[in-house]
Amino acid sequence: MRWTQAFIPTLKEDPADAEISSHKLMVRAGLVRKLTSGVYTHLPLGLRAIQKVERIVREEMDRTGALETLLPILHPCELWKESGRWDVYGKELMRPVDRHGRECALGPTHEEVITDLVRREVRSYRELPVTFYQIQTKFRDEVRPRFGVVRSREFIMKDAYSFHEDEKSLRETYKVMHGAYTRIFERCGLKFAPVHADSGAIGGDVTHEFMVLAGAGESEVVSCGCGYSATLERGETAPEKPSGKGVELKPLEKVHTPGLKTVEEVAKFLKTEPSSLIKTLLYEAEGETVAALIPGDRELNEAKLRRVLKVDLMTMCEAEAIEKATGGPLGFSGPVGLEKMRLVADPRIKNVKNFVVGANEADYHHVNANLERDFKVNQFADLVVAEERDPCVKCGKPVSISRGIEVGQIFELGSKYSEKMGAMFLGQDGKERPFVMGCYGIGITRTVAAVIEQNHDSNGIIWPLSVAPYQMEVLPVNVNDETIRTTAERLYEELTGMGFEVLLDDRDQRPGFKFKDADLVGLPLRVVVGEKAMAEGKVEIHVRRTGETMRASTDEAPGRIKTLIEEGKVS
Ligand SMILES: [Zn+2]
Repeated sequence: MRWTQAFIPTLKEDPADAEISSHKLMVRAGLVRKLTSGVYTHLPLGLRAIQKVERIVREEMDRTGALETLLPILHPCELWKESGRWDVYGKELMRPVDRHGRECALGPTHEEVITDLVRREVRSYRELPVTFYQIQTKFRDEVRPRFGVVRSREFIMKDAYSFHEDEKSLRETYKVMHGAYTRIFERCGLKFAPVHADSGAIGGDVTHEFMVLAGAGESEVVSCGCGYSATLERGETAPEKPSGKGVELKPLEKVHTPGLKTVEEVAKFLKTEPSSLIKTLLYEAEGETVAALIPGDRELNEAKLRRVLKVDLMTMCEAEAIEKATGGPLGFSGPVGLEKMRLVADPRIKNVKNFVVGANEADYHHVNANLERDFKVNQFADLVVAEERDPCVKCGKPVSISRGIEVGQIFELGSKYSEKMGAMFLGQDGKERPFVMGCYGIGITRTVAAVIEQNHDSNGIIWPLSVAPYQMEVLPVNVNDETIRTTAERLYEELTGMGFEVLLDDRDQRPGFKFKDADLVGLPLRVVVGEKAMAEGKVEIHVRRTGETMRASTDEAPGRIKTLIEEGKVS
Protein backbone atom coordinates (compact mmCIF):
# COMPACT_ATOMS: atom_id res chain seq x y z
CA MET A 1 0.00 0.00 0.00
CA ARG A 2 1.21 3.47 -0.89
CA TRP A 3 0.89 6.08 1.84
CA THR A 4 -0.44 8.62 -0.67
CA GLN A 5 -3.41 6.28 -1.26
CA ALA A 6 -3.80 4.83 2.24
CA PHE A 7 -5.74 7.58 4.05
CA ILE A 8 -3.68 7.80 7.24
CA PRO A 9 -4.55 11.22 8.70
CA THR A 10 -1.84 11.55 11.39
CA LEU A 11 -1.98 14.43 13.88
CA LYS A 12 0.75 16.31 15.72
CA GLU A 13 -1.33 17.16 18.76
CA ASP A 14 -3.08 14.93 21.29
CA PRO A 15 -6.90 15.15 21.17
CA ALA A 16 -8.17 17.33 24.03
CA ASP A 17 -10.48 14.65 25.49
CA ALA A 18 -7.88 11.85 25.61
CA GLU A 19 -6.65 10.77 29.05
CA ILE A 20 -4.67 7.62 28.26
CA SER A 21 -1.87 6.83 25.81
CA SER A 22 -3.77 4.35 23.67
CA HIS A 23 -6.59 6.84 23.10
CA LYS A 24 -4.16 9.63 22.18
CA LEU A 25 -2.15 7.39 19.87
CA MET A 26 -5.15 5.80 18.14
CA VAL A 27 -6.37 9.26 17.17
CA ARG A 28 -2.92 10.70 16.34
CA ALA A 29 -1.82 7.70 14.25
CA GLY A 30 -5.01 7.93 12.20
CA LEU A 31 -6.63 4.68 13.43
CA VAL A 32 -9.91 6.14 14.71
CA ARG A 33 -12.02 9.28 14.73
CA LYS A 34 -14.76 10.13 17.21
CA LEU A 35 -18.27 10.47 15.80
CA THR A 36 -20.01 11.29 19.08
CA SER A 37 -19.55 10.47 22.77
CA GLY A 38 -18.34 6.86 23.04
CA VAL A 39 -18.79 6.14 19.32
CA TYR A 40 -15.82 5.82 16.95
CA THR A 41 -15.19 5.40 13.24
CA HIS A 42 -12.43 2.90 12.48
CA LEU A 43 -10.24 4.24 9.68
CA PRO A 44 -8.48 1.91 7.20
CA LEU A 45 -5.26 1.52 9.22
CA GLY A 46 -7.13 0.89 12.47
CA LEU A 47 -9.47 -1.58 10.81
CA ARG A 48 -6.49 -3.63 9.62
CA ALA A 49 -5.34 -4.05 13.25
CA ILE A 50 -8.88 -5.02 14.28
CA GLN A 51 -9.00 -7.60 11.49
CA LYS A 52 -5.67 -9.07 12.65
CA VAL A 53 -7.06 -9.54 16.16
CA GLU A 54 -10.26 -11.00 14.69
CA ARG A 55 -8.25 -13.48 12.63
CA ILE A 56 -6.39 -14.71 15.73
CA VAL A 57 -9.67 -14.97 17.65
CA ARG A 58 -11.35 -16.91 14.79
CA GLU A 59 -8.45 -19.33 14.45
CA GLU A 60 -8.44 -20.12 18.17
CA MET A 61 -12.23 -20.33 18.43
CA ASP A 62 -12.43 -22.64 15.41
CA ARG A 63 -9.72 -24.77 17.01
CA THR A 64 -11.97 -25.34 20.06
CA GLY A 65 -14.73 -26.59 17.77
CA ALA A 66 -16.94 -23.53 18.32
CA LEU A 67 -19.17 -22.68 15.34
CA GLU A 68 -19.20 -19.16 13.91
CA THR A 69 -22.63 -17.62 13.47
CA LEU A 70 -24.10 -14.13 13.24
CA LEU A 71 -26.97 -13.17 15.54
CA PRO A 72 -29.19 -10.09 15.11
CA ILE A 73 -28.29 -6.82 16.83
CA LEU A 74 -31.95 -5.82 17.14
CA HIS A 75 -33.77 -7.92 19.76
CA PRO A 76 -37.49 -8.00 20.60
CA CYS A 77 -38.04 -6.91 24.23
CA GLU A 78 -40.07 -10.10 24.90
CA LEU A 79 -36.91 -12.22 25.03
CA TRP A 80 -35.33 -9.88 27.57
CA LYS A 81 -38.53 -9.93 29.62
CA GLU A 82 -38.47 -13.74 29.62
CA SER A 83 -34.97 -13.79 31.10
CA GLY A 84 -35.87 -11.03 33.56
CA ARG A 85 -33.08 -8.79 32.33
CA TRP A 86 -35.38 -6.15 30.80
CA ASP A 87 -35.70 -4.83 34.37
CA VAL A 88 -32.28 -5.77 35.70
CA TYR A 89 -30.03 -4.44 32.96
CA GLY A 90 -30.87 -0.81 33.60
CA LYS A 91 -29.93 2.17 31.49
CA GLU A 92 -26.96 0.49 29.80
CA LEU A 93 -29.41 -1.40 27.61
CA MET A 94 -30.33 0.73 24.59
CA ARG A 95 -34.03 0.42 23.90
CA PRO A 96 -35.23 1.75 20.55
CA VAL A 97 -38.93 1.71 19.73
CA ASP A 98 -40.04 0.65 16.24
CA ARG A 99 -42.75 2.29 14.07
CA HIS A 100 -45.43 0.06 15.61
CA GLY A 101 -44.47 1.22 19.10
CA ARG A 102 -42.80 -2.09 19.91
CA GLU A 103 -39.91 -1.86 22.33
CA CYS A 104 -36.64 -3.44 21.25
CA ALA A 105 -33.12 -3.81 22.58
CA LEU A 106 -29.80 -3.21 20.83
CA GLY A 107 -27.75 -6.23 21.88
CA PRO A 108 -25.16 -5.59 24.60
CA THR A 109 -24.76 -9.38 24.89
CA HIS A 110 -26.68 -12.30 23.37
CA GLU A 111 -27.63 -14.92 25.98
CA GLU A 112 -31.35 -14.45 25.29
CA VAL A 113 -31.07 -14.64 21.49
CA ILE A 114 -28.86 -17.73 21.44
CA THR A 115 -30.95 -19.49 24.11
CA ASP A 116 -34.04 -18.82 21.99
CA LEU A 117 -32.33 -20.39 18.97
CA VAL A 118 -31.15 -23.45 20.87
CA ARG A 119 -34.49 -24.11 22.59
CA ARG A 120 -36.13 -24.22 19.15
CA GLU A 121 -33.47 -26.25 17.33
CA VAL A 122 -31.70 -28.56 19.78
CA ARG A 123 -33.75 -31.44 21.17
CA SER A 124 -31.48 -34.15 22.49
CA TYR A 125 -28.37 -34.74 24.58
CA ARG A 126 -26.93 -36.35 21.42
CA GLU A 127 -26.51 -32.85 19.92
CA LEU A 128 -24.55 -31.62 22.95
CA PRO A 129 -22.21 -30.04 23.78
CA VAL A 130 -22.40 -27.31 21.18
CA THR A 131 -20.73 -23.87 21.17
CA PHE A 132 -21.64 -20.92 18.93
CA TYR A 133 -19.65 -17.73 18.54
CA GLN A 134 -19.91 -14.48 16.63
CA ILE A 135 -17.89 -11.31 16.07
CA GLN A 136 -20.22 -8.35 16.01
CA THR A 137 -20.97 -4.77 17.05
CA LYS A 138 -22.42 -4.40 20.53
CA PHE A 139 -24.13 -1.49 22.30
CA ARG A 140 -23.89 -0.43 25.93
CA ASP A 141 -25.03 3.00 26.97
CA GLU A 142 -22.16 3.74 29.37
CA VAL A 143 -22.82 6.50 31.92
CA ARG A 144 -19.42 7.96 31.24
CA PRO A 145 -17.74 6.82 28.04
CA ARG A 146 -14.01 7.45 28.28
CA PHE A 147 -10.55 6.24 27.31
CA GLY A 148 -11.45 6.15 23.60
CA VAL A 149 -12.49 2.67 22.48
CA VAL A 150 -11.72 1.17 25.92
CA ARG A 151 -15.02 2.30 27.38
CA SER A 152 -17.20 3.15 24.44
CA ARG A 153 -20.92 2.80 23.83
CA GLU A 154 -20.53 0.91 20.55
CA PHE A 155 -17.79 -1.68 20.17
CA ILE A 156 -16.84 -4.90 18.42
CA MET A 157 -16.98 -8.04 20.50
CA LYS A 158 -16.51 -11.75 20.10
CA ASP A 159 -19.09 -13.58 22.15
CA ALA A 160 -19.50 -17.32 22.45
CA TYR A 161 -22.14 -19.48 24.15
CA SER A 162 -21.86 -23.16 25.02
CA PHE A 163 -24.70 -25.59 25.78
CA HIS A 164 -24.23 -28.78 27.81
CA GLU A 165 -26.12 -31.66 29.30
CA ASP A 166 -24.41 -31.28 32.68
CA GLU A 167 -21.98 -29.26 34.80
CA LYS A 168 -19.13 -31.65 34.08
CA SER A 169 -19.34 -31.01 30.36
CA LEU A 170 -19.56 -27.24 31.02
CA ARG A 171 -16.41 -27.33 33.15
CA GLU A 172 -14.54 -29.13 30.37
CA THR A 173 -15.48 -26.46 27.81
CA TYR A 174 -14.72 -23.68 30.32
CA LYS A 175 -11.22 -25.11 30.65
CA VAL A 176 -10.83 -25.33 26.87
CA MET A 177 -11.96 -21.69 26.52
CA HIS A 178 -9.57 -20.61 29.30
CA GLY A 179 -6.77 -22.18 27.23
CA ALA A 180 -7.97 -20.60 23.98
CA TYR A 181 -8.14 -17.15 25.61
CA THR A 182 -4.63 -17.57 26.96
CA ARG A 183 -3.36 -18.38 23.45
CA ILE A 184 -5.31 -15.48 21.89
CA PHE A 185 -3.89 -12.84 24.22
CA GLU A 186 -0.39 -14.32 24.02
CA ARG A 187 -0.55 -14.22 20.23
CA CYS A 188 -1.66 -10.56 20.43
CA GLY A 189 1.58 -9.81 22.30
CA LEU A 190 -0.15 -8.93 25.58
CA LYS A 191 1.00 -9.36 29.15
CA PHE A 192 -2.18 -10.35 30.99
CA ALA A 193 -3.55 -12.26 33.96
CA PRO A 194 -6.76 -14.26 34.36
CA VAL A 195 -8.36 -13.04 37.60
CA HIS A 196 -11.43 -14.08 39.59
CA ALA A 197 -14.26 -11.75 38.78
CA ASP A 198 -17.81 -10.74 39.56
CA SER A 199 -20.46 -11.82 37.11
CA GLY A 200 -22.51 -8.60 37.30
CA ALA A 201 -25.67 -8.56 35.22
CA ILE A 202 -24.67 -11.66 33.21
CA GLY A 203 -25.05 -14.04 36.15
CA GLY A 204 -23.31 -17.27 37.09
CA ASP A 205 -20.88 -18.18 39.83
CA VAL A 206 -17.54 -19.15 38.31
CA THR A 207 -16.07 -16.42 36.17
CA HIS A 208 -12.64 -15.12 35.19
CA GLU A 209 -11.68 -11.82 33.63
CA PHE A 210 -8.60 -11.63 31.44
CA MET A 211 -6.92 -8.47 32.58
CA VAL A 212 -4.19 -6.67 30.67
CA LEU A 213 -2.08 -4.97 33.31
CA ALA A 214 -1.71 -1.32 32.37
CA GLY A 215 -1.21 1.70 34.62
CA ALA A 216 -3.98 3.51 32.79
CA GLY A 217 -6.53 0.68 32.92
CA GLU A 218 -10.17 1.30 33.80
CA SER A 219 -10.46 -1.74 36.11
CA GLU A 220 -8.71 -2.42 39.39
CA VAL A 221 -7.15 -5.72 40.39
CA VAL A 222 -6.39 -7.00 43.88
CA SER A 223 -3.33 -9.24 43.87
CA CYS A 224 -0.85 -10.86 46.20
CA GLY A 225 2.57 -12.45 45.84
CA CYS A 226 1.04 -15.83 46.78
CA GLY A 227 -0.84 -15.90 43.45
CA TYR A 228 -4.23 -14.65 44.65
CA SER A 229 -5.78 -12.21 42.20
CA ALA A 230 -9.28 -10.89 41.65
CA THR A 231 -11.05 -7.86 40.29
CA LEU A 232 -11.76 -5.13 42.81
CA GLU A 233 -15.47 -6.01 42.63
CA ARG A 234 -14.71 -9.59 43.58
CA GLY A 235 -11.49 -9.10 45.56
CA GLU A 236 -11.68 -10.32 49.13
CA THR A 237 -9.28 -9.38 51.88
CA ALA A 238 -9.12 -10.62 55.45
CA PRO A 239 -10.07 -8.46 58.44
CA GLU A 240 -7.23 -7.38 60.73
CA LYS A 241 -6.90 -9.40 63.95
CA PRO A 242 -9.34 -8.13 66.60
CA SER A 243 -7.77 -5.34 68.61
CA GLY A 244 -10.63 -4.38 70.92
CA LYS A 245 -9.94 -7.14 73.50
CA GLY A 246 -9.93 -6.01 77.10
CA VAL A 247 -11.62 -2.74 76.22
CA GLU A 248 -14.31 -1.89 78.74
CA LEU A 249 -17.85 -1.74 77.31
CA LYS A 250 -19.35 1.62 78.22
CA PRO A 251 -23.08 2.24 78.60
CA LEU A 252 -25.06 3.10 75.47
CA GLU A 253 -25.81 6.80 75.24
CA LYS A 254 -27.77 9.01 72.86
CA VAL A 255 -26.02 12.26 71.95
CA HIS A 256 -27.17 15.38 70.11
CA THR A 257 -25.29 15.78 66.78
CA PRO A 258 -27.15 18.65 65.11
CA GLY A 259 -26.93 18.65 61.34
CA LEU A 260 -23.94 16.29 61.29
CA LYS A 261 -24.46 13.61 58.67
CA THR A 262 -21.10 12.54 57.28
CA VAL A 263 -18.75 10.16 59.04
CA GLU A 264 -16.03 12.81 59.11
CA GLU A 265 -18.29 15.50 60.62
CA VAL A 266 -19.58 13.17 63.34
CA ALA A 267 -16.11 11.77 64.17
CA LYS A 268 -14.67 15.27 64.48
CA PHE A 269 -17.55 16.50 66.65
CA LEU A 270 -17.29 13.49 68.99
CA LYS A 271 -13.46 13.66 68.98
CA THR A 272 -13.04 10.11 67.69
CA GLU A 273 -11.76 8.30 64.59
CA PRO A 274 -13.93 7.50 61.53
CA SER A 275 -13.02 3.82 62.15
CA SER A 276 -15.00 3.86 65.44
CA LEU A 277 -18.15 4.75 63.55
CA ILE A 278 -20.33 2.19 61.83
CA LYS A 279 -21.97 3.12 58.55
CA THR A 280 -25.47 1.71 58.23
CA LEU A 281 -26.45 1.58 54.56
CA LEU A 282 -29.94 0.62 53.51
CA TYR A 283 -30.66 -1.24 50.28
CA GLU A 284 -33.80 -2.36 48.53
CA ALA A 285 -33.02 -5.91 47.39
CA GLU A 286 -35.80 -7.45 45.30
CA GLY A 287 -38.59 -6.36 47.64
CA GLU A 288 -36.71 -6.60 50.95
CA THR A 289 -35.06 -3.70 52.79
CA VAL A 290 -31.67 -4.76 54.12
CA ALA A 291 -29.10 -2.89 56.22
CA ALA A 292 -25.39 -3.31 55.55
CA LEU A 293 -22.98 -2.41 58.36
CA ILE A 294 -19.38 -1.49 57.62
CA PRO A 295 -16.63 0.41 59.46
CA GLY A 296 -16.88 4.19 59.04
CA ASP A 297 -13.54 4.46 57.26
CA ARG A 298 -14.36 1.88 54.53
CA GLU A 299 -16.42 1.87 51.33
CA LEU A 300 -19.19 -0.63 50.66
CA ASN A 301 -18.60 -2.97 47.71
CA GLU A 302 -22.08 -3.28 46.20
CA ALA A 303 -21.11 -6.29 44.07
CA LYS A 304 -20.19 -8.21 47.22
CA LEU A 305 -23.43 -7.25 48.96
CA ARG A 306 -25.41 -8.32 45.90
CA ARG A 307 -23.70 -11.72 45.99
CA VAL A 308 -24.30 -12.15 49.72
CA LEU A 309 -27.99 -11.32 49.30
CA LYS A 310 -28.17 -13.53 46.17
CA VAL A 311 -30.05 -10.90 44.16
CA ASP A 312 -29.60 -9.40 40.70
CA LEU A 313 -31.39 -6.15 41.37
CA MET A 314 -30.38 -4.00 44.32
CA THR A 315 -30.66 -0.25 44.80
CA MET A 316 -29.65 2.10 47.59
CA CYS A 317 -32.71 3.36 49.50
CA GLU A 318 -33.82 6.92 48.91
CA ALA A 319 -34.58 9.25 51.85
CA GLU A 320 -38.28 8.40 51.86
CA ALA A 321 -37.70 4.63 52.02
CA ILE A 322 -35.14 5.09 54.82
CA GLU A 323 -37.58 7.12 56.87
CA LYS A 324 -40.26 4.47 56.38
CA ALA A 325 -37.93 1.61 57.36
CA THR A 326 -36.06 3.18 60.30
CA GLY A 327 -38.22 6.08 61.45
CA GLY A 328 -35.23 8.43 61.03
CA PRO A 329 -33.98 10.61 58.18
CA LEU A 330 -31.18 9.92 55.71
CA GLY A 331 -27.77 10.19 57.36
CA PHE A 332 -28.86 9.07 60.83
CA SER A 333 -29.42 5.33 60.34
CA GLY A 334 -28.01 2.89 62.89
CA PRO A 335 -28.46 -0.78 63.84
CA VAL A 336 -29.86 -0.24 67.35
CA GLY A 337 -33.60 -0.86 67.29
CA LEU A 338 -33.67 -2.30 63.76
CA GLU A 339 -34.47 -5.85 64.97
CA LYS A 340 -37.09 -6.38 62.29
CA MET A 341 -34.67 -5.73 59.45
CA ARG A 342 -32.07 -8.14 58.10
CA LEU A 343 -28.64 -6.84 59.16
CA VAL A 344 -25.61 -7.95 57.20
CA ALA A 345 -22.25 -6.82 58.58
CA ASP A 346 -18.64 -6.79 57.52
CA PRO A 347 -16.59 -8.85 60.04
CA ARG A 348 -14.26 -5.87 60.49
CA ILE A 349 -16.83 -4.31 62.84
CA LYS A 350 -16.09 -7.10 65.33
CA ASN A 351 -12.74 -5.41 65.94
CA VAL A 352 -14.25 -2.28 67.41
CA LYS A 353 -15.92 -1.70 70.77
CA ASN A 354 -18.03 1.29 71.81
CA PHE A 355 -19.06 2.33 68.32
CA VAL A 356 -20.76 5.48 67.19
CA VAL A 357 -23.90 4.74 65.17
CA GLY A 358 -26.88 6.72 63.92
CA ALA A 359 -29.86 6.76 66.32
CA ASN A 360 -32.57 6.57 63.61
CA GLU A 361 -33.68 10.04 64.72
CA ALA A 362 -32.90 13.46 63.24
CA ASP A 363 -29.75 15.02 64.73
CA TYR A 364 -28.97 12.15 67.11
CA HIS A 365 -26.32 9.41 67.27
CA HIS A 366 -25.70 6.61 69.72
CA VAL A 367 -22.26 6.35 71.29
CA ASN A 368 -20.83 3.22 72.95
CA ALA A 369 -23.01 0.89 70.91
CA ASN A 370 -21.78 -2.68 71.12
CA LEU A 371 -22.36 -5.77 69.04
CA GLU A 372 -24.52 -8.46 70.72
CA ARG A 373 -25.34 -6.23 73.70
CA ASP A 374 -27.13 -3.44 71.79
CA PHE A 375 -27.88 -5.06 68.45
CA LYS A 376 -27.53 -8.39 66.68
CA VAL A 377 -26.32 -9.15 63.20
CA ASN A 378 -27.95 -11.82 61.00
CA GLN A 379 -24.94 -12.53 58.83
CA PHE A 380 -21.29 -11.58 58.58
CA ALA A 381 -19.62 -11.32 55.17
CA ASP A 382 -16.77 -9.41 53.55
CA LEU A 383 -18.57 -6.31 52.26
CA VAL A 384 -15.96 -3.61 51.80
CA VAL A 385 -13.91 -2.45 48.83
CA ALA A 386 -10.45 -3.99 49.22
CA GLU A 387 -7.68 -1.51 49.94
CA GLU A 388 -3.94 -1.58 49.39
CA ARG A 389 -2.15 -3.35 52.28
CA ASP A 390 -5.27 -5.18 53.52
CA PRO A 391 -4.28 -8.73 54.55
CA CYS A 392 -4.57 -11.29 51.72
CA VAL A 393 -7.50 -13.65 52.17
CA LYS A 394 -5.27 -16.63 51.27
CA CYS A 395 -1.95 -15.94 53.02
CA GLY A 396 -2.43 -12.86 55.23
CA LYS A 397 0.33 -10.80 53.59
CA PRO A 398 -0.57 -7.26 52.43
CA VAL A 399 -2.24 -7.17 49.00
CA SER A 400 -1.51 -4.64 46.30
CA ILE A 401 -3.99 -2.97 43.99
CA SER A 402 -3.08 -2.38 40.37
CA ARG A 403 -4.93 -1.24 37.29
CA GLY A 404 -5.80 -3.20 34.20
CA ILE A 405 -7.93 -3.29 31.07
CA GLU A 406 -10.42 -6.15 30.96
CA VAL A 407 -10.12 -7.69 27.50
CA GLY A 408 -12.07 -10.89 28.02
CA GLN A 409 -14.36 -12.67 30.45
CA ILE A 410 -15.56 -16.25 30.69
CA PHE A 411 -18.56 -17.41 32.73
CA GLU A 412 -20.06 -20.65 33.92
CA LEU A 413 -23.70 -19.62 33.63
CA GLY A 414 -25.33 -22.88 34.67
CA SER A 415 -29.04 -23.13 33.88
CA LYS A 416 -30.01 -19.56 34.85
CA TYR A 417 -31.15 -18.60 31.33
CA SER A 418 -32.43 -21.97 30.18
CA GLU A 419 -34.67 -22.33 33.26
CA LYS A 420 -36.13 -18.84 32.92
CA MET A 421 -36.65 -19.24 29.17
CA GLY A 422 -37.81 -22.86 29.26
CA ALA A 423 -34.92 -24.13 27.11
CA MET A 424 -35.05 -27.91 27.58
CA PHE A 425 -33.58 -31.02 26.00
CA LEU A 426 -34.17 -34.73 26.36
CA GLY A 427 -31.50 -36.33 28.56
CA GLN A 428 -30.10 -39.87 28.28
CA ASP A 429 -32.77 -41.05 30.74
CA GLY A 430 -35.52 -39.72 28.46
CA LYS A 431 -36.34 -36.87 30.87
CA GLU A 432 -36.50 -33.19 29.95
CA ARG A 433 -34.00 -30.90 31.63
CA PRO A 434 -32.67 -27.36 31.13
CA PHE A 435 -29.46 -26.78 29.18
CA VAL A 436 -26.38 -25.98 31.23
CA MET A 437 -24.66 -22.95 29.69
CA GLY A 438 -21.38 -21.09 29.54
CA CYS A 439 -20.54 -17.77 27.89
CA TYR A 440 -17.27 -16.27 26.76
CA GLY A 441 -16.54 -12.71 25.57
CA ILE A 442 -13.60 -10.81 24.11
CA GLY A 443 -13.61 -7.07 23.46
CA ILE A 444 -11.99 -6.86 20.04
CA THR A 445 -11.67 -3.07 19.78
CA ARG A 446 -10.62 -2.94 23.41
CA THR A 447 -7.93 -5.55 22.77
CA VAL A 448 -6.41 -3.31 20.07
CA ALA A 449 -6.37 -0.41 22.57
CA ALA A 450 -4.82 -2.67 25.24
CA VAL A 451 -2.10 -3.73 22.79
CA ILE A 452 -1.21 -0.06 22.25
CA GLU A 453 -1.46 0.73 25.95
CA GLN A 454 1.21 -1.91 26.62
CA ASN A 455 3.28 -1.32 23.48
CA HIS A 456 4.25 2.30 22.91
CA ASP A 457 6.89 4.89 23.74
CA SER A 458 6.92 8.68 23.75
CA ASN A 459 7.18 8.71 19.93
CA GLY A 460 4.29 6.43 19.14
CA ILE A 461 2.93 2.92 18.82
CA ILE A 462 5.17 -0.17 18.83
CA TRP A 463 2.98 -2.77 17.10
CA PRO A 464 3.57 -6.44 17.82
CA LEU A 465 4.12 -8.18 14.48
CA SER A 466 0.98 -10.31 14.94
CA VAL A 467 -1.49 -7.40 15.01
CA ALA A 468 0.40 -4.65 13.14
CA PRO A 469 -1.70 -3.11 10.33
CA TYR A 470 1.32 -3.64 8.03
CA GLN A 471 4.44 -5.54 8.96
CA MET A 472 6.85 -2.97 7.59
CA GLU A 473 7.31 0.39 5.98
CA VAL A 474 9.67 1.32 3.16
CA LEU A 475 10.74 4.92 3.65
CA PRO A 476 12.51 6.75 0.79
CA VAL A 477 13.87 9.95 2.37
CA ASN A 478 13.51 11.92 -0.87
CA VAL A 479 11.09 10.82 -3.59
CA ASN A 480 12.51 13.44 -5.99
CA ASP A 481 15.85 11.62 -6.09
CA GLU A 482 15.59 9.17 -8.98
CA THR A 483 17.91 6.50 -7.49
CA ILE A 484 16.25 6.62 -4.07
CA ARG A 485 12.75 6.52 -5.53
CA THR A 486 13.37 3.61 -7.89
CA THR A 487 15.26 1.62 -5.22
CA ALA A 488 12.41 2.11 -2.76
CA GLU A 489 9.86 1.09 -5.42
CA ARG A 490 11.88 -2.00 -6.26
CA LEU A 491 12.14 -3.02 -2.56
CA TYR A 492 8.44 -2.39 -2.07
CA GLU A 493 7.56 -4.63 -5.03
CA GLU A 494 9.98 -7.34 -3.97
CA LEU A 495 8.88 -7.44 -0.30
CA THR A 496 5.20 -7.39 -1.30
CA GLY A 497 5.93 -10.21 -3.75
CA MET A 498 7.41 -12.23 -0.86
CA GLY A 499 4.01 -12.07 0.86
CA PHE A 500 4.75 -9.27 3.34
CA GLU A 501 2.30 -6.47 4.06
CA VAL A 502 4.25 -3.35 3.19
CA LEU A 503 3.48 0.37 3.43
CA LEU A 504 5.51 2.61 1.10
CA ASP A 505 5.82 6.20 2.31
CA ASP A 506 5.81 7.73 -1.17
CA ARG A 507 4.88 11.20 0.10
CA ASP A 508 6.89 14.19 -1.07
CA GLN A 509 7.69 15.40 2.46
CA ARG A 510 10.77 16.32 4.49
CA PRO A 511 12.62 13.28 5.92
CA GLY A 512 12.10 14.49 9.53
CA PHE A 513 8.35 14.62 9.02
CA LYS A 514 8.26 11.12 7.54
CA PHE A 515 10.44 9.65 10.32
CA LYS A 516 8.12 11.18 12.97
CA ASP A 517 5.08 9.63 11.28
CA ALA A 518 6.87 6.29 10.96
CA ASP A 519 7.52 6.23 14.72
CA LEU A 520 3.97 7.35 15.46
CA VAL A 521 2.33 4.71 13.26
CA GLY A 522 4.87 2.27 14.69
CA LEU A 523 5.13 -0.61 12.19
CA PRO A 524 7.53 -3.32 13.44
CA LEU A 525 10.15 -2.84 10.68
CA ARG A 526 11.28 0.13 8.64
CA VAL A 527 13.50 0.06 5.57
CA VAL A 528 15.07 3.49 5.05
CA VAL A 529 16.34 4.33 1.59
CA GLY A 530 18.61 7.36 2.15
CA GLU A 531 21.38 9.21 0.37
CA LYS A 532 24.31 8.22 2.63
CA ALA A 533 23.77 4.47 2.67
CA MET A 534 22.73 4.45 -0.97
CA ALA A 535 26.16 5.87 -1.88
CA GLU A 536 27.48 2.46 -0.74
CA GLY A 537 24.59 0.62 -2.40
CA LYS A 538 22.96 -0.05 0.99
CA VAL A 539 19.70 0.57 2.83
CA GLU A 540 19.01 0.73 6.58
CA ILE A 541 16.75 -1.79 8.33
CA HIS A 542 15.33 -0.45 11.58
CA VAL A 543 13.50 -2.48 14.26
CA ARG A 544 10.89 -0.27 15.94
CA ARG A 545 10.75 -2.14 19.26
CA THR A 546 14.47 -2.44 19.99
CA GLY A 547 15.70 0.60 18.08
CA GLU A 548 18.27 -1.72 16.46
CA THR A 549 19.49 -0.52 13.05
CA MET A 550 21.46 -2.57 10.52
CA ARG A 551 22.68 -1.98 6.97
CA ALA A 552 22.22 -4.35 4.10
CA SER A 553 22.80 -4.07 0.37
CA THR A 554 19.66 -3.46 -1.64
CA ASP A 555 19.87 -7.00 -3.01
CA GLU A 556 20.34 -8.63 0.40
CA ALA A 557 17.81 -6.52 2.31
CA PRO A 558 14.66 -8.58 1.56
CA GLY A 559 16.42 -11.81 2.59
CA ARG A 560 17.71 -10.18 5.79
CA ILE A 561 14.18 -9.06 6.67
CA LYS A 562 12.77 -12.53 6.05
CA THR A 563 15.42 -14.02 8.35
CA LEU A 564 14.82 -11.42 11.07
CA ILE A 565 11.12 -12.30 11.11
CA GLU A 566 11.63 -16.07 10.86
CA GLU A 567 14.15 -16.05 13.69
CA GLY A 568 11.78 -14.10 15.91
CA LYS A 569 14.05 -11.03 16.10
CA VAL A 570 11.00 -8.89 15.38
CA SER A 571 8.07 -9.50 17.71
ZN1 LIG B 1 -1.59 -13.95 49.45
